[in-house]
Amino acid sequence: MQAFEATSHYFDQAARILDLTDNIRTLLITPDREVRVEVVIEMDSGQIGNFIGYRVQHDNARGPFKGGLRYHPLVDQDEARSLASLMTWKTALVDLPYGGAKGGINCDPAKLSRGELERLTRRFTEKIHDVIGPLKDIPAPDMGTDAQVMAWIMNEYGKFAGFTPACVTGKPVEFHGSVGREAATGYGVAIVTREALARRKASIAGTSFAIQGFGNVGSHTARFLWRQGAKIVAVSDAYGAVTNPGGIDIAELDKHVAVARKVVGFKGGEPTTNEQLLKMPVDVLIPAALGGVFDRELARAVQAKMIVEAANSPTWPEADEVFNARGIPVVPDILANAGGVIVSYFEWVQNLQYFRWSLERIQSEEESRLVTALHEVYDTAEQLKVPLRTAAFYIAINRVSRAHALGGI
Ligand code: NAD
Repeated sequence: MQAFEATSHYFDQAARILDLTDNIRTLLITPDREVRVEVVIEMDSGQIGNFIGYRVQHDNARGPFKGGLRYHPLVDQDEARSLASLMTWKTALVDLPYGGAKGGINCDPAKLSRGELERLTRRFTEKIHDVIGPLKDIPAPDMGTDAQVMAWIMNEYGKFAGFTPACVTGKPVEFHGSVGREAATGYGVAIVTREALARRKASIAGTSFAIQGFGNVGSHTARFLWRQGAKIVAVSDAYGAVTNPGGIDIAELDKHVAVARKVVGFKGGEPTTNEQLLKMPVDVLIPAALGGVFDRELARAVQAKMIVEAANSPTWPEADEVFNARGIPVVPDILANAGGVIVSYFEWVQNLQYFRWSLERIQSEEESRLVTALHEVYDTAEQLKVPLRTAAFYIAINRVSRAHALGGI
């Protein structure tokens, strides 16, 4: 099964309850536009570098297309299509005036110099500038891209359209970005986790966690949970994992990672493997790295009591069935990691108004949107007697199909 098929499977589970006609189902599932461009740059060596870039615009019935740009060797049309569709449901679920999009460039950013990365970004922006823009499609960072890449996009786009900071979000704070954006996804994961635990009459303090991934999302999630008294017993990254049954001191781990650039070698824990981390008997397991982590076999071996999907698409449908059958609740990606796009929305609003908000305002408005969405999902799941993911898709599909009906064909 490929990524888009998996997302469509989750869509169908909820669409069946909504009793959509075949035509409406096709309208909602089919991407609006798919752009594939050749991006040619001069490498530092003087050679020509050929890359392929994608932008898939899935649906814009509720507002401009919105979604990240990924620079990674596995980026392809199918992955962009799947993630673009997820963005449509995510923005609808947290009630933002956006649709969904995703894109990226098939490349390995770790092997590119800063100059090559800048030339690649500028050439890609030049190729897609006529289909993006503040009221058309607003890119943002994802794996392999960061605030600097967004700054280059804004600057390059400005050559065609003039000063337009709202054409992209996730920019550096001192270059029209928003305070709170960098930590927004991890902050949101912590809020969602707190509320999900509250539905089980539990709290973050004293609850045990294992977190896969210690990049932007994983590390901020760990920090916010730890400050609220969480016992984080294992953390991993691409190089390995560390565990401490008594709880890892995240402030000390941060100091180690700042120097070593990986969690491996941390003195405040014992080495372990990524695979062991995913099978640990913890209260909450948080995948915050890649997609496609849980297959059927791994889902059977998971011992966590709850899963919070900080990463996009970590669970294949076959694993989702196992989690459902075993009664392990899965807080789905389109809810768990929506904090990032919520604060991207606040950045866009600030850019359109040429006005800045405080961190307190950003965090309290992010929190209130996520708390509302989480309880809507739990209440819907209880009413319909369906898993949380199906409830989340149900709410989102309802909103998007309503917008199509109101706007007209
Ligand atoms: P990142 O590149 O900053 O971090 C990824 C982390 O995963 C790194 O620590 C990396 O070492 C680790 N990793 C890679 N392969 C691994 C493996 N096999 N086992 C364990 N760890 C591994 O990326 P990020 O921005 O933190 O994004 C992580 C996930 O969250 C992605 O699925 C992304 O789509 C999703 N997401 C990110 C945001 C955001 O605002 N950054 C928003 C929503 C969703």
